[in-house]
This record gives sequence, C-alpha cells and structure tokens, in this order.
Amino acid sequence: MNTRTTTSPVSQDTSRLAALATGTGPELEVTRPADGQPYAVVRQTAAGEVAAAVRRGRSAQKHWATTPPKERAVVARRFAELVLDRRNEILDVIQAETGKSRLAAFEEVVDASMMASYYAHTAARLLKPRRHVGAFPVLTQTTELRHPKGVVGVITPWNYPFTLVASDSVPALLAGNAVVVKPDHQTPFSALLVLDLLLASGLPEGLMQVVVGPGPVVGSELVGAVDFMMFTGSTETGRLLAQQCGARLIGFSAELGGKNPLIVMDDADLPAAAAGAARACFANAGQLCVGPERIYVHERVREPFTQSFLDAVARLRVGAGTAWEADMGSIISPTQLDRVRAHLDDAVAKGARVLAGGTPRPDLGPSFFEPTVLTDVPEDATLFREETFGPLVAIYPIASADEAIARANDSALGLSASVWTSPSRGRTLAAQIEAGMVNVNEGYSAAWASHGSPMGGWKESGLGRRHGAEGLLKYTEAQTVAVQRGVPIAPFAGMSNETFANLFTRAARILNHFR
Ligand code: NAD
Repeated sequence: MNTRTTTSPVSQDTSRLAALATGTGPELEVTRPADGQPYAVVRQTAAGEVAAAVRRGRSAQKHWATTPPKERAVVARRFAELVLDRRNEILDVIQAETGKSRLAAFEEVVDASMMASYYAHTAARLLKPRRHVGAFPVLTQTTELRHPKGVVGVITPWNYPFTLVASDSVPALLAGNAVVVKPDHQTPFSALLVLDLLLASGLPEGLMQVVVGPGPVVGSELVGAVDFMMFTGSTETGRLLAQQCGARLIGFSAELGGKNPLIVMDDADLPAAAAGAARACFANAGQLCVGPERIYVHERVREPFTQSFLDAVARLRVGAGTAWEADMGSIISPTQLDRVRAHLDDAVAKGARVLAGGTPRPDLGPSFFEPTVLTDVPEDATLFREETFGPLVAIYPIASADEAIARANDSALGLSASVWTSPSRGRTLAAQIEAGMVNVNEGYSAAWASHGSPMGGWKESGLGRRHGAEGLLKYTEAQTVAVQRGVPIAPFAGMSNETFANLFTRAARILNHFR
C-alpha cells in the first residue's frame, strides 16, 4: 500500500473565526487529529447564553420572515459561488479539524455549493402560496401558505462538519427562519466558517449563530429553547432528543446512523463494482453515515470480486497532510480508533478472518488505521449488526437476489444501500430494500448528490428528510386559508337540519367526483 506523509502547516485566521462564536465561557482547545497537536481555541457558550442566542435569532427573524423568498435566495446563490471561490481555505479548515484526506474534504465543498444552488433555484417556488380545490368549488377559495417556524436548532456531528451545517441551515434560512447551530465540540471551526461565508454572502446579522460546547449541556439547552430541531448524529442521541422535543411538542427531524449494505450480483461489472466498493467503504476513513459496512456478494462471483476488491483496497493511499494524493486520512480521534479496534478484535476473537489491513498506522499519526476487510464474520460479532463508523467492512456470500434483499433488510437501521447489477434489475432490487436511499452502480454519492430528491433514514436511521422539497418545507408551518363566498356551509334561514343534510348528501355525491 502506497503511503504519503506530506504535511503542510495550516495558516488559517482561526481567531477571526473564533470571534464569530456565541459565548463567553471557558476556552475549548480544538486538536488536529492528524498529528494530535493543538489547532485553535474558541470560547464555549456559557449557561444562559444559548437562550440569549435564540432570543437574538427570534428578533432578527421577524424582518427576515417578511423579506421576499427570492431576495433570501440571493444569499444562497452567492454562498454557492463563494464556497467554490474560497475552496482551498475551506479544505484547510476541514482537514485540520477532522484529519480527513483533501479529497474527502473536497466532497464537503462541492456538496455544500450544489445544495445551496439547488435551494437558491427552488426555494421561492416551493414557498409560493398554493391554491387547492375548496370545500365547495368556486364558493370556497382555499390557499395553502407556508410560514417559517421561527428559530431552528441545528445539531451536527464531526464527520462532515462543513457540509452538514450548511445543508441543514441554508434551507431553514431560506424558509424564513433564524438558526442556532451547535456543532460537535471537535469541529466548531468548520461551522464558524459556514457562518463567515453566509455573512459574506449577505446574510443579515443575528440570523445564524454558532454555540459551542458539549452536547449534553449546550445541545440540551438548545433543544429547550428553539421552535424546531434538526439533528444529525447517532441513533442513541437522536432517541434522547426525540423525547425532549416530544415533551415540548416541537417538530424534530433526525439523520441518524446506518449499517449500510452493498450488494454485488452475479451480472455486475466486477472491476467497476470492486473499485466503487473500495471508494465507498473507505471514503472519509469509513466515517460516513451512508458508507457501506456490509458487502453481500453473489457466490458465483465471490472469488473474482473479492480479489478485485482487495486489489482496489491495496491501491488506496493512506496519508496525512494537505496534498491531494491521499485517498484516506485519519480517524477523528483515539477514542473512535479504539471503537474500530474493539469491533475488529471482537470479530476476530469470534472467528472472523482479516483479508486486508487490521493494523493502526502510528507512523502517519496517532489515529490512522489501515483500510480493513473481513470475512467469515459470525452473527454474534458486534460489528455484524452495529455501526462501526470506521475503515472496517465485512464480506458475506449470498446465493440469490432474494437472500441479498433479506440480508440487507435484516437490520434495525435503514439509511442507505448500494446495488451493483444491470440498471433494470438494480431498480427492481432497490424498490425492495428498506433504506432511504439506494445507489445502483454507485457507492453512495449519486443519490446523496441528487439534491432535488429527499435523503434520509428508514427505521432507526432517522425521521424526516433533508434535500428536495421536504428538506425545506419541514422548516415551515403550513396554514390553510379558506375564504367562503355566497352561501354558508350550514342550513339556510328557515331550512330544517334534515333538509340541509339531504341536500348536502346529494351535493357530496356530485362533489366527490371532482376531488
Ligand atoms: P453523537 O450523537 O454523539 O453527536 C452528534 C451531535 O450531538 C454532536 O454535536 C454532539 O455534541 C451532540 N450531542 C451529543 N449528546 C447530546 C445530548 N445529550 N443533547 C444534545 N446534543 C447532544 O454522534 P457522533 O458520534 O458525533 O456522530 C456519528 C453518528 O452520526 C454516526 O452514527 C453517523 O452514522 C451519524 N451521522 C448520520 C448522518 C445522516 O445524514 N444520517 C450524517 C452524519 C453522521
């Protein structure tokens, strides 16, 4: 396996970004995962300051809500451009905070830009008042309006710290809301950079704020103060926040964990499937919610696929630094590395065989690990069902399409899946898979980057959707306004209730034909 250790110092104006954070609490030192060294310092949000941030957002939102959606969309259009213009600066910040490869960081840049551009083009149309057939055609004029929720709380994880903040904040803002974002404490600077870019794109002050600190403290305060909660993170935390939002009767949308299957059928283009699977399984060092962790390969092509896959994995270049060559970078932290090792050791102790990798790379940095491939993983191994969220994938043989579907669906999670076969068979199989997105002949990015179509989890992988119309309309309250003209929907003066009921019955028979 080819490796590189090029490093170049990150020269960001981190204190300028730190000044954008809301808070006067104790300092939080952010570490660079690639070398374990300090990166930058930011003040945490102190007790009571989250509620104050929400109040500030509420007051800024009043005027924003009356700003025509087309004008709001201009901010997103400029943001989409600015993200591409300031690409290298963004890449440096993301890489410093996460240790991911430059290519993995680039996914965030291009995704944030394409998402913003999609909503810049569609938000005004999606938010337009819509006419509906009224209770009585002509006599009842019914319109559906969309109002902003008010202040939206956005809690994000560390794995895609730039694009997830942008993806969940931009549609909320375009819908007329203010947002208060709580990024993971390991990656606040990527979130602050999104804020910086939105301000530079013309977003009025106070509409977006970033609060910093531990989830159970700062995140909990946020859930207690906002009008809608958008959460991305683990299923465990999602369940907790759902209860808190339920108790307050506020809306909640959640993008949670995955244990995603990748199916290789016997008619697949094997070299393409092998290369695609290697890219997808080890994208962002496997710390990708939609990345595959289970490969089901038809037994007729098991040998050639496995060989081709292992060759592709061996070609992956693991490395640190800001050069473009590395395919895979560091894991986020020694804690996450420990989780990967624990899953690996447990599987091996129970009989799994390591086909590739299986070892850390301290020569590159404290949290690097080889891309690792397992086979013969028994059902009682932890990783058989649990999300690892690291560079660890298991291969299982299947004998038929039915078995592939049954095995793919044998999970409490249902975020994403990938199928390698002919396009028509792929469509047929996709429709039987219990997951919010299915890629045919791609690992994850074709469906993810189709920003016009909703993305999210079935089962314990989530509630609600990001992207598409749903990704914007969830940040609104629907309001039906019906104007009744001419006759009331009640007995006319002097008419008995029975006559009214008989007349209405006849009218309903006719009206039902037109609904
Ligand atoms: P996590 O749930 O531990 O943390 C996510 C965020 O929630 C962080 O900002 C954290 O500070 C905050 N948080 C933690 N406890 C909290 C609490 N009690 N109250 C309020 N906020 C709290 O998740 P993680 O380990 O950082 O992220 C990895 C997980 O995220 C994986 O399961 C991954 O699959 C999932 N994920 C899902 C998507 C998706 O789109 N479905 C995208 C990225 C990551």
